[in-house]
Amino acid sequence: MDILLVGAGLSGAVIGRSLALQGHKITVIDGRDHVGGNCHTARDPDTGVMVHIYGPHIFHTDDDEVWDYVNGFAKFQSFKNRVKTTAQGAVYALPINLHTINQFFGKTMRPTEAQTFLAAQADATIVEPQNFEEQALRFVGRDLYEAFFEGYTIKQWGCSPRALPASILKRLPVRFNYEDNYFFHKHQGMPREGYTAMITRILDHENIDVQLNTLFDAKVAARFDHVFWSGPLDGYFDYKLGRLGYRTLDFEKFTAQGDYQGCAVMNYGDEKVPYTRITEHKHFSPWEDHENTTCYREFSRAAGPADIPYYPIRLVEEKSLLSDYIALAEGATGVTFVGRLGTYRYLDMDVTIREALDTAALFGKKLAASAPMPAFVKSPL
Ligand code: UDP
Repeated sequence: MDILLVGAGLSGAVIGRSLALQGHKITVIDGRDHVGGNCHTARDPDTGVMVHIYGPHIFHTDDDEVWDYVNGFAKFQSFKNRVKTTAQGAVYALPINLHTINQFFGKTMRPTEAQTFLAAQADATIVEPQNFEEQALRFVGRDLYEAFFEGYTIKQWGCSPRALPASILKRLPVRFNYEDNYFFHKHQGMPREGYTAMITRILDHENIDVQLNTLFDAKVAARFDHVFWSGPLDGYFDYKLGRLGYRTLDFEKFTAQGDYQGCAVMNYGDEKVPYTRITEHKHFSPWEDHENTTCYREFSRAAGPADIPYYPIRLVEEKSLLSDYIALAEGATGVTFVGRLGTYRYLDMDVTIREALDTAALFGKKLAASAPMPAFVKSPL
């Protein structure tokens, strides 16, 4: 079959390769001049440092198959993300761990003491947290919430934490030990040559034709047997029901000599600091040596029509517009919506790859059974 993949990010690359291996003829288009989507990496011409052009991406997963998959296309270096946050005039470890708790409250508690202490801080009247703020108050109490989550979240999402789903905070654990690794997955690492080199290799197959700087054209798409769409779900329908909310990011690059901040990611919890975090990219490649350093100050704001969408907001009120787009998508034929933007979900890279592999496998099965491919393999709701 002749298949069109819109978007040369992780979803497009992985689905493309799997379908190429099934013997299909694949065309991958992308409006930008590089593959890799928002995982794109490139060396800063000023310093030679490998930069995560669209913000920090750390690969972490518990999925052995996904880990083996990425290792088939890139040499991974072990990497532990040790995030710090500057808040209320001090620097703390994130996610909240025993060190953070002891430092913040000026105590020397052991794990069980800290558990009891934090349980007393937490708001036990909240049984089923309905939003981000309730989730935080329920698990860490008001003081830690205000220092580490409230300001950062207002800056990151541009709305009250009460309007956000609890699931966003569930990404961050609270630890009653001194473990300061941001993630707790079995496998964690960085591709030595960057994500773009890895994704270029995934796409390197004789059945795959990659066309960059190429915008989607419905007339061209109609010539294909099936389309996989990894662009914004609402964008496929020309936003005819209105726009789903996304946050976009602005990066203010600066270079310096030596080591600017001593770690890869420094968050800023205070609302009055206008940026959410500073990423110092050379700390993502500690096996390399660079005299100078490249940093990004990261600012978040509502995505306008011309901006690159990064984070689906999924406000509680937005659910009904999303349902309407899902209904439209389910009524469309010959197209499947994939990835972070296509399914309007906050997906990590490993989940994106897992779903892409499953999507391609399902396509093979449906074809064998002469059954139609669904609009979504994973429901956006
Ligand atoms: N968060 C926060 N303070 C921090 C870091 C994260 O309040 O210092 C909240 C914020 O709402 C953020 C969410 O936790 O959107 C998830 O954080 P994560 O680090 O997973 O975000 P990402 O790196 O994907 O932007």
